[in-house]
Amino acid sequence: MGAPSTHDHHADGLGAPAVVEVADGVFAYVQPDGSWWINNTGFLVGRSGVVAVDTCSTERRTRALLDAIGLRSPQPIRTLVNTHHHGDHTNGNSLLPEATIIGHARCRDAMLRSPIGGASAVFPGIEWGDVELSPPFVTFEDRIDLHVDELHAEVHHIGMPAHTVGDAVVWLPSASVLFTGDLVFNGGTPFVLMGSVAGALAALDRVRRFGAQTIVPGHGGVCGPEQIEVVAGYLRFVQATAEQAKAAGLSPLEAAREADLGEYAQLLDAERLAGNLHRAYAELDGAAPGDPIDVGAAFADMIAYNGGRPLRCLA
Ligand SMILES: [Zn+2]
Repeated sequence: MGAPSTHDHHADGLGAPAVVEVADGVFAYVQPDGSWWINNTGFLVGRSGVVAVDTCSTERRTRALLDAIGLRSPQPIRTLVNTHHHGDHTNGNSLLPEATIIGHARCRDAMLRSPIGGASAVFPGIEWGDVELSPPFVTFEDRIDLHVDELHAEVHHIGMPAHTVGDAVVWLPSASVLFTGDLVFNGGTPFVLMGSVAGALAALDRVRRFGAQTIVPGHGGVCGPEQIEVVAGYLRFVQATAEQAKAAGLSPLEAAREADLGEYAQLLDAERLAGNLHRAYAELDGAAPGDPIDVGAAFADMIAYNGGRPLRCLA
């Protein structure tokens, strides 16, 4: 077991994570403030086991998640579903050694190409802790269903590259709860550099059609379907900004600097606009959703947008 955490949630000013029971035995684990590397997870409590939805970015944060689950159920975590490959949702997977880890096939592929700590150049100072890359070893293409006693959980691939190339949602029809992963952000800037702007908009059409009353977003507080429209509005803003700025001969960074964020200025991690514009520009040049682009150049522009300072990260 790892060393006891000496981290004080009050010391970072973020407050403790919230465990929100969104339906009978269905919990959202919401970590403030939802900025870079500080994600949400969820868990479904059954009589003989727990299903977890995602882990956290660091050993410390994942152990706190496991403690919170342990307070709600003495049963083992037998199943873990990853919504996508990003390390804030998967780095802690190895701390659930008895769980069957399920994810989309392209989530697994992307994890295998993304070593833990690979982002340390952009985000120096994150203490990842004692965690090892542990990708899903049960993969699916379209859909897989889980049964937690009487609770039926549908895990759906969203159908196209969107936030990443392998995004899945967990839909609980009887409770009208949808865990969206990072297809929906609440209070943070949506981020589609590694997926597709157009694809993310199409994915939101799919998200909308579930008709969920309760949405557990990938970052930020539990919300309703209205938050889908905020994300969609932002993505259309990115597309419109890219069209105008590219026609005017501006680079993605220049476009980001000149753009008026308007209502989106209050979202956390505004510098993602520069990264999102890299993806939007590639799509204007004919790139297919999810095609590889120069992610390093996009992050360099996000740092430049921030005046050359490292990206704010409190993980
Ligand atoms: Zn993500």
